[in-house]
Amino acid sequence: MAAAVTSTDTRPTTAASDRLGRPLRDLRLSVIDACNFRCPYCMPADRIADDHGLDAASRLDFDEIETLVRGFVQVGVRKLRLTGGEPLLRRRLPELIARLASIAGLDDLALTTNGALLAGQAHALRTAGLQRLTVSLDALDPVLYRQLSGGRGDVGHALAGIAAAEAAGFGAIKLNCVVQRGINDGEILPLAGHFRGSGHVLRFIEYMDVGTCNGWSAARVVPSVEIRDAIHARWPLRPLAPHYRGEVATRYGFEDGGGEVGFVSSVSTPFCGDCHRARVSADGKLYTCLFAGQGHDLRPALREGQPALAQHIAGLWSDRADRYSELRGTRAASGKRVEMFLVGG
Ligand code: SAM
Ligand code: SF4
Ligand code: SF4
Repeated sequence: MAAAVTSTDTRPTTAASDRLGRPLRDLRLSVIDACNFRCPYCMPADRIADDHGLDAASRLDFDEIETLVRGFVQVGVRKLRLTGGEPLLRRRLPELIARLASIAGLDDLALTTNGALLAGQAHALRTAGLQRLTVSLDALDPVLYRQLSGGRGDVGHALAGIAAAEAAGFGAIKLNCVVQRGINDGEILPLAGHFRGSGHVLRFIEYMDVGTCNGWSAARVVPSVEIRDAIHARWPLRPLAPHYRGEVATRYGFEDGGGEVGFVSSVSTPFCGDCHRARVSADGKLYTCLFAGQGHDLRPALREGQPALAQHIAGLWSDRADRYSELRGTRAASGKRVEMFLVGG
């Protein structure tokens, strides 16, 4: 149910719940659809051209992004994560972050990056007001890392980026590792060993059937329990309570006090019932599910201003009934799906 939006104030004046009773709390916003990597599970080089990317004019500009985020906050969003493609390729990103950081009602401002350009930008991102960082890191082995980036990345750059982020004042950085059986499952223990005791939080993510170009197969998925058991056998773990209801990662702590690890189990243990997340692509399309076939163009409402936009978002959200991961493998879950690099994870 969407209540009327009656004010231009950016603080929430309406609470939109979808058809399954889920409020809108969390926004992932892609600031660019281009990437300097070609990770085979996301943007395989043989399917996505080197020069892939919207022309700059098709991307929302900073004024539009600010209005858009204010509109989402008005409908109930409290957490914003900037993503891509690779968000650090977006020109003048710190300027955008400073504008978003000043929006009243937004409690959390985070960003996900592959880390390749992080060393040179970490300080500016922090100074601009970015609160939290996630760095994707699928392997420590340099040859495997390069292969997993589609031949583009250097693990030394990602590690230097993490060190620079630490030096810039980012605490508890999240490190995302997508595990694929037979590809990088040998990296689980080296990664866990590397980040134990670092104060950062390594998270293992089940390989998902996002989009239609990555050749996903269920045989490649390593269920989180298997990863957890492998780590537990080496460094005993104990379950930790979630930070809040609907937290995507299940948390475990090292019994010897070496910090924590997380598991994102959207294939083996779907969490659609607690999914409060909307996604917006760099050209302003709203996707109400990571596996949605189609987006809703927000630009016409955006041109009418924040109150009209908020009303429009609330209407779209109240019509939402997505629960792809719970329906995976059934006829109801077949058909076209948006690509991961357009909506950013
Ligand atoms: N380029 C940035 C990066 O890689 O961190 C941000 C965008 S990327 C699409 C966001 C996250 O999605 C990354 O952590 C990536 O590993 C993850 N991802 C991409 N394809 C995936 C898939 N098929 N299954 C699970 N996670 C995936
Ligand atoms: Fe680029 Fe991130 Fe996708 Fe890799 S996962 S291709 S770094 S957008
Ligand atoms: Fe949310 Fe869709 Fe993922 Fe379910 S499948 S958790 S509804 S994004």
